[in-house]
Amino acid sequence: MDDRLMNGTFLAEDGAVEQTLRPHNLRDYVGQKAVKDSLGIYIEAALSRHDALDHMLLYGPPGLGKTTLACIVAAEMGQNIRVTSGPAIERPGDLASILSNLNAGDVLFIDEIHRLSRQVEEVLYPAMEDYAIDIMIGKGPTARSIRVDLPKFTLVGATTRAGQLSAPLRDRFGMLFRLEMYSPEELSQIVERSAGILGVDADKEGLLEIARRSRGTPRIANRMLKRVRDYAEVRAGGHISRDVAREALAMLDVDELGLDKVDRNMLNTMMDKFSGGPVGLDTLAATTGEDAVTIEDVYEPYLMQLGFLMRTPRGRMCTPAAWAHMKKKMPASAEEQIRMEI
Ligand code: ADP
Repeated sequence: MDDRLMNGTFLAEDGAVEQTLRPHNLRDYVGQKAVKDSLGIYIEAALSRHDALDHMLLYGPPGLGKTTLACIVAAEMGQNIRVTSGPAIERPGDLASILSNLNAGDVLFIDEIHRLSRQVEEVLYPAMEDYAIDIMIGKGPTARSIRVDLPKFTLVGATTRAGQLSAPLRDRFGMLFRLEMYSPEELSQIVERSAGILGVDADKEGLLEIARRSRGTPRIANRMLKRVRDYAEVRAGGHISRDVAREALAMLDVDELGLDKVDRNMLNTMMDKFSGGPVGLDTLAATTGEDAVTIEDVYEPYLMQLGFLMRTPRGRMCTPAAWAHMKKKMPASAEEQIRMEI
């Protein structure tokens, strides 16, 4: 199977279609009720004061809608958005030039903001706090720094790992929003909307089947919809019913909970080689051949959401639910380990 189907990070195959599937206003943005409620209030208040919105940090696993939400914030504020990412801003000068080209009220979206270098981050501090940047003029003993004012803008930072953000940067965000994984019903609404936009012929049960298996992640749900549509076109006259969705997803090696080959390999390795854990992240990465960051950002959050994996100070452990799902008998020693943790 193609391992990339179930990976929530943006891939080339998502391409331009992702853009067309993005909702453009808060009303069409499905789920994340708590975030939407607060944002709605802050946006209304900022609009009535004719002021820029406070800086905000969005965090959560890839594919949950951080970029989409940033674009919606700009649209709802009636402002332009400038999109960039931590790794793309290499030098302090790169950021200074982006900042000095912003117009009043603009939204600057920095994806993967935890990957900004320390020197670049330092340019951001006065920009966020005082709407100003300090520029060095000249070299050596005659060098001096001058302060250049910036228009009032809104920084929206996105990260998969809020814990990796430096404290001074985190403290400068007025709002912190954590995006949660979506329920099957919410994902069903998202794929229904996407099916409408893409002109895919599907019934509600077919769409719910896709939603159930997409790991709580809209990007995966939309990607799965496209794969199942291909299958339906070749094998089922183009219509996606529940059975067609099931057949297509079985062919793609995705089980009824949305676990793929990589998840199953991880669980099997933990159970067969380490009696269910505890296993350290690096050991797990080395024995499964997966990248530690990918395990932490992409695989683990969903396994934890399902209640299959526990993170303890001594490492990761499989829960009784995971043993049951993998149809393996949990050894007494593993039960004892779990008891010690609870
Ligand atoms: P992230 O920036 O968190 O990786 P994106 O914002 O790029 O995720 O979202 C990925 C895809 O999922 C987009 O195509 C978007 O259409 C869809 N999507 C994400 N969140 C929602 C939502 N709440 N409602 C509808 N579609 C969504």
